[in-house]
Parts: sequence; C-alpha cells; structure tokens
Amino acid sequence: MSAKIIDGKAVAESLQRELAAQVAALSRARGIQPALAVVLVGADPASEVYVGSKIRSTTKVGMHSVEHRLSAQTSQAELLSLIDQLNGDPQIDGILVQLPLPRHIDSTAVIEAIDPAKDVDGFHPINVGRVATGAGGIVPCTPLGSVLLIKSLDTPLVGLDAIIVGRSNIVGKPMVQLLLAEQCTVTIAHSRTRDLPGRCRQADILVAAVGRAQMIRGDWIKPGAIVIDVGINRLSADGHSKARLVGDVAFEEARQVAGAITPVPGGVGPMTIACLLQNTFNAARKRRGV
Ligand code: NDP
Repeated sequence: MSAKIIDGKAVAESLQRELAAQVAALSRARGIQPALAVVLVGADPASEVYVGSKIRSTTKVGMHSVEHRLSAQTSQAELLSLIDQLNGDPQIDGILVQLPLPRHIDSTAVIEAIDPAKDVDGFHPINVGRVATGAGGIVPCTPLGSVLLIKSLDTPLVGLDAIIVGRSNIVGKPMVQLLLAEQCTVTIAHSRTRDLPGRCRQADILVAAVGRAQMIRGDWIKPGAIVIDVGINRLSADGHSKARLVGDVAFEEARQVAGAITPVPGGVGPMTIACLLQNTFNAARKRRGV
C-alpha cells in the first residue's frame, strides 16, 4: 500500500485564495485593510526566512504588513514598550513576535504582554485557556493547520485513537485540544514515554512534533494511519554538504504503511502561514466589529 500524500501546499494555497477574496470584499465594503505587525529581534537565519515568508504571504492576500526588525541587543523593556505601542495602535489587528527570542528576554513576559485580541499566534494564556475550554480563543497556527489537513481527507474522526509525539506549548499541547474537539481519543507522548513505537502503532492518527530527523520509523505506524509530520529538520548526508529539509517521520518507510501522510517540505509548513493569515483576518473582523 502506498499512502495518499497530503498536499499542504495546495490546501494552503486554496485557503489563501479564499482569504484574498474575503480581504478584498472587506476592503470594498468597509474600507478596512487588516494589518499584521511582525516583530523580529536579532538575525537568526531560520527566523529571517520564516518572517520573510510571513510578510510576503500577508501582502499577497491583500493585508497590510508592518515590520519591526530590532537588534539582538534590544532590551526586554524596549520590546515590551513596542508591544504596548502596537497594542494601542488602532490600525494593527495582529501582533506576531517571532520566536525564539534572544536569551536575555523572557518570552513568557513578552507573550503575556500582547493584547489577547491581537495575539494571532494564539500563545497568550487567555487564548490557551479559551481554546482548552472550548470558549473560542485564537488557535495556534501550526496545530490549526495540522487539523485542517486531517479534515481535508474527509475521514470521519469520531472515536479515532490519536497520538501526538511532543508536548510543546506551541504544537503538542494545543493539538490535544483540537483533536479532542474532533472526538478523538488522544494520547500525548514525550521523551519519557515508555514503549513509544508500541504506542504509535496503536494510533489511527499520528502527529509528530519532536524536532528529531526521521525518528518515527515505518514500523511504528499502524497500517492505514493518518500521519501528520510537523517536524522541520535540516539534514546533510555527511554533515558538510548542503542540508535538505526532512520531517520527524522517515517518509519513504512511512508512506508504504500509512493511509495518508504529509510531506516535508510542503505539508504542515505552508498551512502554518495560511492559518496565521486567517487568524489575522478573524482578529481584524472581531476587533473592528465587522
Ligand atoms: P520542542 O523542542 O518545544 O518540543 C519537542 C517535544 O518532543 C518535547 O515535548 C520533547 O519531550 C519531545 N521529544 C524530544 N525527543 C523525544 C524522543 N526521543 N521521544 C519522544 N519525544 C521526544 O519542539 P516544537 O514543538 O517547538 O517543534 C517540534 C518540531 O516541529 C520541530 O522540528 C520544529 O522545527 C517543528 N515546527 C514546525 C512548524 C511548522 O510550521 N511546520 C512550526 C513549529 C514547529 P520532552 O517534553 O519530554 O522534552
């Protein structure tokens, strides 16, 4: 059996096309152009790539993008002051602070300083709590994108066994809430889980969010399972040659066993950006009452 490859790029493009039409309609009807402020502190190469791609996608769907590039020496007080200013700016609908931040800055303090109504990453504890209680908080982009990819398969999810490998605040934990909301029975695994391969083999849905190249092997996967690979790892054949991107799942092995699987790149990554844009648009409508 060879798995269906879930084309995250195509699903994301379709979402972005729909969004661009909604943005244009909002602009025509109300003269509103939703705006996302992106804050980058320092010059981490991977963060530069992510931020560049988020800014390009924002303008592509017709929303306004405001960039704040700060030096790596920026103090926490300076960053908090910028966030305060963006919170109070009526033209700004979403605020994204690219993580990781330099070590001297407390990320938790920064996340908690963002107005929850503009927290389009969905990391503020108010949004985390609302998502956990089903009270309609802003959902973090990567788990949201992952669930949309699962739903794009049109497989009934009620009662399926899901395992999420990885318990980070930005991927693993919110993914639990989203799959519970889809009526799945959810297990969350981490570095101390016993018999991880055995647990994975029980799962109808496997979400890998670990950050370890190709850790999840083909024989860990239940035949026919849906496999969502969130991992983004840079792998070079000899440690020196040009790195290629791989996921947390050994793709070539896994596709022989799974029912459906996301590739890396071209799976969850593009969905993360599409969901960021959707969150920004929704935040704009809600905040502006339209
Ligand atoms: P974190 O490093 O915050 O969390 C990794 C998790 O994996 C931890 O819970 C850790 O367990 C667990 N883990 C580590 N080693 C093992 C192991 N050997 N067995 C089982 N579990 C293990 O990572 P993130 O959640 O931030 O990111 C995960 C991956 O997803 C990364 O590759 C990242 O680049 C990618 N990513 C991709 C995005 C996208 O848009 N596609 C967006 C965000 C992240 P413990 O808690 O016990 O330490």
